[in-house]
Amino acid sequence: MSGSGAPPRQDRSELAHKADPSQDVVLVVNAGSSSIKFAVYGVGGDGLDRLTHGEIDGIGTLPRFHARDASGAEITGLPWAKDSNFSVHKLIEALIEWIEQRCGRGRIMAAGHRVVLGGLEHTAPVLINAGLLERLRELIPLAPMHQPRNLEPIEALAKLNPKMPQVACFDTAFHRTIPEIAQLYGLPRKLTEAGARRYGFHGLSYEYIASVLPRFDERAAGGRTAVAHLGNGASMCALVGGRSVATTMGFSPLSGLLMGTRPGEIDPGLLLWLMQAKGMAVEAIEAMLYHECGLKGVSGISSDMRDLLASDDAHARQAVDLFIYRICWELGSLAAAAEGLDALIFTAGIGENASSVREAVCRQSAWLGIELDAAANARGEQRISTIASPVSVWVIPTDEERMIAIHTLAILKELPKTIL
Ligand code: ADP
Repeated sequence: MSGSGAPPRQDRSELAHKADPSQDVVLVVNAGSSSIKFAVYGVGGDGLDRLTHGEIDGIGTLPRFHARDASGAEITGLPWAKDSNFSVHKLIEALIEWIEQRCGRGRIMAAGHRVVLGGLEHTAPVLINAGLLERLRELIPLAPMHQPRNLEPIEALAKLNPKMPQVACFDTAFHRTIPEIAQLYGLPRKLTEAGARRYGFHGLSYEYIASVLPRFDERAAGGRTAVAHLGNGASMCALVGGRSVATTMGFSPLSGLLMGTRPGEIDPGLLLWLMQAKGMAVEAIEAMLYHECGLKGVSGISSDMRDLLASDDAHARQAVDLFIYRICWELGSLAAAAEGLDALIFTAGIGENASSVREAVCRQSAWLGIELDAAANARGEQRISTIASPVSVWVIPTDEERMIAIHTLAILKELPKTIL
């Protein structure tokens, strides 16, 4: 998700901002380990209008509900803010109730969900049915931290309203165009056949960027483009003609770039050392890899790039430097995989907002043909390379939720009217 363009913190009465009750809406759900992000899109004549979006965080401890209206203003007077420890089922029930109060009863046409792992067979979003849910449950051992969280809201909605079409949009689907050779690890074939391969993630973000790129840069859209999705989770992807040919995340979302709390690339020998010499249990290693590494681990201060950029602590500086170094390293390897580079795109919270990080990446990657326009970068313009730069560099906000809404609507249009 993008953290860009934080709207002004301005409280308004919820009642003053009811959506048009005659408009059908699509609900988008993006469920993480302790939060459920959601967005509601009105289905209008010529497109999708985001009516409201928000998040239920603190799941498992003290769930809190935040939402903003179409203008970005915070909505107050939300339900269940003072209640503790709701099940995901109850939270989804309350969310649906709240959306129906705002948008009209029965107006939710369908729900689209981000699902982290679709396996190799899913190269595109699909309508969810009992068989698919079963198959997605079978994939849980390959993504034990994420897949169950993604499936819970689907199961809750299916119980609440079995007739509502639900669509699964997979983070891995966009990367199924990566050549077989680039999906393989050097492991015994038996393990590859059991599913040990590079899946890649952030696919909805890359798909969104690929879909809007022609509006910014025709040459890049048809050529070789590296996209840097730099949020709390961070990865990069090489696009050739808008299709993924290589990406930095692999079997799990732990590998590749340094992230907020994940290490990115590490030597697997380190994991053996942690178990053998340090006596660490698998669960403790898993918790460390997901929550204690990355910017947070290296700085010892924070996983948040804003905190590190504002700090004059040497370890904070080193964490930022390592973040930048890893991006430059992976940019070189993606250019090798794509056999060239026409454009570089920055997106997500850090990519869209941290001009100093963008500047350092561009300067350290000048050898690839990147000529930064430092003034344009500092001003936060869309194009941040000089006109003469052989590689054009752009800042393009991502929108994974809109991508899910677009897919969901497209699948709805294919459905017979009797199902709707
Ligand atoms: P995710 O969706 O993966 O949780 P985001 O795309 O929202 O993450 O990105 C979060 C990251 O973006 C955080 O490290 C945050 O510090 C960083 N970020 C957001 N705004 C800024 C800013 N103005 N300057 C620097 N970093 C920023």
